[in-house]
Amino acid sequence: MKGQPITPPSMDHYYMGIAIAVRERANCQGTRVGALIVKGNRIVSTGYNGTPSGMTNCLDGGCKRCASREIQRGSGYDLCICVHAEQNALLSAARFGISVEGATMYTTSRPCFGCTKELLQAKVPEVVYLHEWAHSDERWQEEYEMLQEEIQLRRYAMKDPQEDWALRRGLHNALFEREKA
Ligand SMILES: [Zn+2]
Ligand SMILES: [Zn+2]
Repeated sequence: MKGQPITPPSMDHYYMGIAIAVRERANCQGTRVGALIVKGNRIVSTGYNGTPSGMTNCLDGGCKRCASREIQRGSGYDLCICVHAEQNALLSAARFGISVEGATMYTTSRPCFGCTKELLQAKVPEVVYLHEWAHSDERWQEEYEMLQEEIQLRRYAMKDPQEDWALRRGLHNALFEREKA
């Protein structure tokens, strides 16, 4: 309404909303993820998940691991040719010569093992995530948490309008389950 003050969103809300928008370009049969790197209150890099550029997209069957029904969610990443959103954000920064040391990453998914160690080694000390992630084999949970203790990690929960699509729930999953039967 006219004249009504609009409360600006918190920075977490603002950046996570942008990470959700970045995720719209994700091209993966697995979980769809969007990520941002923020430094000095500026977005310096973004990424979403999918196969390396120039290769057949994951949704078109470009990644055998993602298309396989034998591999459980949250596992087999060493066989996956999809580049994770967090990796793509780090790699774009590398490609364009942007320092990420001391930056904050916003990502729509809690980073996996691989992304966590890469963030650590790139000296990104803080990560804010939206959805939980866990390895399919809970025996690895302890080591995962130990690795993540090395970064300042926190969850920022907000409404995610495309949650079912991003986490492969609902219709997409129903189709997936039917295909599997
Ligand atoms: Zn994929
Ligand atoms: Zn990852």
